[in-house]
Amino acid sequence: MNPKDFKPNDLDSVATGSRSTRREWLQRTMAAAAFLPQVFPGGPGGWGGRGRGPMRPRRTVDPSKIPAYKYRILPVGRFAELQKEYDAAKNNAQLGRQKMYLDQIASLNFKVPADFPSAKSVVVVAAYSKNMYSNFKLEGTAHRILIPFQYYTDDYNSDRLKAIVQKEIIKTPGRRVMDISSQIPLKLLAARSGLGRYARNSLVFVDGMGSYNVLYAFLTDHPFTEDHWTNLEILEECNHCHACVRTCPTRCINRWNYSTNIDKCLTLYNENPGEFPNYFLGSMHHALMGCMQCKAPCPANEGIAELSGNLEDVSEEETRKILQGAPDDALLKSLQRKLRQFRPTASREQFPILKRNLSVLIRT
Ligand code: SF4
Ligand code: SF4
Repeated sequence: MNPKDFKPNDLDSVATGSRSTRREWLQRTMAAAAFLPQVFPGGPGGWGGRGRGPMRPRRTVDPSKIPAYKYRILPVGRFAELQKEYDAAKNNAQLGRQKMYLDQIASLNFKVPADFPSAKSVVVVAAYSKNMYSNFKLEGTAHRILIPFQYYTDDYNSDRLKAIVQKEIIKTPGRRVMDISSQIPLKLLAARSGLGRYARNSLVFVDGMGSYNVLYAFLTDHPFTEDHWTNLEILEECNHCHACVRTCPTRCINRWNYSTNIDKCLTLYNENPGEFPNYFLGSMHHALMGCMQCKAPCPANEGIAELSGNLEDVSEEETRKILQGAPDDALLKSLQRKLRQFRPTASREQFPILKRNLSVLIRT
């Protein structure tokens, strides 16, 4: 089957997700809309070449050449068809069966909000973002901990992108723009608008920024003439590659049919409260939240995955308080600033997630 011809019932999907911060909501809605053909160019299965042949150094990318954002436009008249595809995936349990996750995506839909009946188009935006590290100091050692790109607030946030949509994309003063990123399945929207392509690891890749993108959707009453509706496509690099299948610590990426089992994904568990399942080994944890193991080795992220920045250090006293699970207002405030609104620093209720996640990374 040509991937351009596949139907909703041919789809598989996956997700990662959590509740709370805007960026995490965005990532979750991205994941919620993963629709993947089970038959793809090059045939199902097969052994990926990368990682099994002789290694060559990964190329480097000039960060200034990575686009800060990209966008596509769809008329809201496309929403009915998108909803149908999304419903088909949900009804086929393609979004997983884990209640924790299903609860999180329950409200997502392709409906025009009741308070914006004059909406005409949606502008789908992908903003590039890179991983960050922070040194958590303890007993004379600086533990360099990864904070993946989805979990801190960077410069291209919702407010800034909304202003860009108004001034640089719509350009006509007086148009209404509404951020609906937390209400809509973003990955399907991005794929159907031609902004990105699905990959074996169920992420959406955007040309020039790979999977290091955060998706947004802005509804507007501006009458765009553009309609970027596109057939769903699979990332070309996946045809001869299974690197992510091999590096996924919980083996939840399906080798044969481009689907991922969200119910086993590390991200679902380290974003949410509660104990980790007993089949998660301590060595599987490598980030303060989320998991980058299916993104880092990907050839489509070559040179992009290697880029990172640094957040402020977390002091010995702060690290000790985190590990003791003893937050006070001053600690929360300091960590919110240092870790740029990392969600578990938002409140005492969220704080146990930070304690648990840091504890498995700094084994004292
Ligand atoms: S590592 Fe990247 S290119 Fe390779 S199969 Fe996974 S998503 Fe596709
Ligand atoms: S590598 Fe990590 S994020 Fe990717 S599917 Fe596996 S557990 Fe989930």
